Amino acid sequence: MASEKRELIIGGENVPALDGRTTDDLNPYTGEVYAVVAAAGTADVARAVDAAEEAFAEWSATPPSARRRILLKAADVLESRTPEAIALMAQEVGGVAGWAGFNVMLAAGMLREAAAAVTQPVGEVLTTEKPGQLSLAVREPLGVVAAFSPWNAPIILSTRAVAAPLAAGNTVVMKPSEDAPIAAGLFIADVLHEAGLPAGVLNVVTNAPSDAAEIAEALIADPRVRAVNFTGSTEVGRIVGTLAAQHLKPAVLELGGKNSLLVLDDADLDHAVEAATFSAFFNAGQICMSADRILVHESVAEEFTTKFAAKVASLPHGDPADPGTVIGPVITPRSADRVAALVAEAVEAGARVRAGGDGVPHVLDGVTPQMRIFTEEIFGPAVVVTTVADDDEAVAIANDTEHGLTAGILTEDARRGLALARRIRTGIVHVGNQTVDDAPQVPFGGVKASGYGRFGGRWGIESFSATRWVTVASD
Ligand code: NAD
Repeated sequence: MASEKRELIIGGENVPALDGRTTDDLNPYTGEVYAVVAAAGTADVARAVDAAEEAFAEWSATPPSARRRILLKAADVLESRTPEAIALMAQEVGGVAGWAGFNVMLAAGMLREAAAAVTQPVGEVLTTEKPGQLSLAVREPLGVVAAFSPWNAPIILSTRAVAAPLAAGNTVVMKPSEDAPIAAGLFIADVLHEAGLPAGVLNVVTNAPSDAAEIAEALIADPRVRAVNFTGSTEVGRIVGTLAAQHLKPAVLELGGKNSLLVLDDADLDHAVEAATFSAFFNAGQICMSADRILVHESVAEEFTTKFAAKVASLPHGDPADPGTVIGPVITPRSADRVAALVAEAVEAGARVRAGGDGVPHVLDGVTPQMRIFTEEIFGPAVVVTTVADDDEAVAIANDTEHGLTAGILTEDARRGLALARRIRTGIVHVGNQTVDDAPQVPFGGVKASGYGRFGGRWGIESFSATRWVTVASD
């Protein structure tokens, strides 16, 4: 029996889909129905855009101090609901308590960062050749923003999808992942409404998996929708980016990664083992920033791999609701099968299993560039350790992918690390640290097939604003 029943949020109200349809939201650990949620149709999308369009005039004209107060209050409300968030993430996405707590902490930070942005200057005074003329660059909101969130860091990524657009004065229609309609959409809308967000400013349409393409197309094509943000796979990002381009809407696309963690010959190996474990297996490897490739200098490769495999084999795995669990379940049986197939194919072709099986994440070495596990995003509990002869080979392998999200370089020599960081083509790179990191005030995003546009800090605000040139003649 489902413990939750949820509806769409349109115009500040919880409403069923117009045709009354619902869809099941499953618990990935038990496989049981966790919630039954409304399954929107395209008519519901139009209703949600109506509400967002209607709310835009008032929200965009709301005094900055009032918008700021709501966003700050939302951060407090979110933190006060941490126990609920932990239970929700355990049941809806199989997230362990530490991951859920991190979601709340980072999302609250994003709301506070967005609040701070509200009272920043909205333009500049430009020089002019015309005597007496005032020439201005003025930042203004765009209108209704369509926001698509994935399931994997649901509270962070649903918050990120709405915080900057709302702070910049836009209204939003959000379509969360079908794998986390509550944690990746309805929950943050509840929080913002509890904090006083006016009706219609944020609307959430949940949908059945089979309707995702139709719902996305209806939302992006609606002429009142002025911009799009999408966080999810590169595969779906291509579809969303194409639709946005077809309708000439600006889009921020945050897509998949094929991230490398470099372990240089001077790295502190105990630190490297801890860093690699976190980088590859936090949230069971289901983070866009997770390391898929660990590139280890040959002089330390065997020592590192032995210690790393032992560490990974010791990680407690199982029920995400158990406070001792480090490795929870993979989100769907389909996803688990996909990762298992990547591992099996590699082993069949000669890769060695250094750790893995029976719920333990896989650590493979002896992998060749022809294997799919080496080229495709893994997005699950498996990682490849590859031995490199020198720094040049490490850079070449790190860049040998269509993706370009993040990289980590473990070395005790900051100058050497920085030189390598400059040569790795990713949107994010960490010297002396692993690949999984985020903060509200930084420009977050990828290059190449990892997407374009930026969330975070002033970059996020600019992504959801139009800068106009305004002049005033004095006579
Ligand atoms: P996904 O691409 O399967 O789904 C994301 C969204 O796309 C969902 O809302 C889904 O309903 C929608 N969707 C599915 N099919 C669609 C279609 N045909 N047309 C339009 N929309 C459609 O991604 P996911 O499984 O939820 O998340 C995992 C992926 O997201 C991984 O590839 C991961 O790397 C990536 N990700 C990237 C970032 C980042 O910031 N770069 C962050 C988290 C996750």
